Amino acid sequence: MEDNDSLAKIAAEIKACRKCPLGKTAHRAVPGEGNPEAEIMFIGEAPGYWEDQRGIPFCGAAGNLLNELLASINLKREDIFITNILKHRPPNNRDPLPGEIKLCSPFLKRQLLVIKPKVVITLGRFAMNFFLPNLYISRAHGQPRKITWEGIPLLIIPLFHPAAALRNGEVMEKLKEDFLKIPQIIKEATNPPPKEETPIQGSLF
Ligand code: SF4
Repeated sequence: MEDNDSLAKIAAEIKACRKCPLGKTAHRAVPGEGNPEAEIMFIGEAPGYWEDQRGIPFCGAAGNLLNELLASINLKREDIFITNILKHRPPNNRDPLPGEIKLCSPFLKRQLLVIKPKVVITLGRFAMNFFLPNLYISRAHGQPRKITWEGIPLLIIPLFHPAAALRNGEVMEKLKEDFLKIPQIIKEATNPPPKEETPIQGSLF
């Protein structure tokens, strides 16, 4: 990363990017938005219909649910940073292709290096498997995992995607429960519990 990299510079490059065909087929780029000093960074898969129309991440029904979930832990959109792995919408919301991810992920890496979040929350199976391949979201959701991605140490919490929660009441309950765990996970990441001291044996001199 260049020393003078910034979210605005990255966003401008994303808007001009045509490295993969999605830059031509999408209406608008969706670089991400939020607090440049956010402790929590949310990462989804790719922009959907409304995001593509407006250039804003998570702004449809799933976005409204995300705002409610944030409020449940006393957070607002301005407190976090939110983005996607891909910055332009794939046609008809199809899954991102490996080649598109390879070309686009350097932008995500630069955003991570600028923001330096304490916690990365992946939304949905696809975003989780980007960082944590081979895990099943039905088992891994809500459990923090420390990883190193592209040389960057990250604490990842995989969560269900809000859009999946809107379709399934059981997923909605799990997503709400997982959200309530976030403050404690951040607290522990910031102030890890002190290690138990090894008792020092008294010595006789
Ligand atoms: S999806 Fe990513 S790599 Fe493809 S054109 Fe958009 S910004 Fe560039």
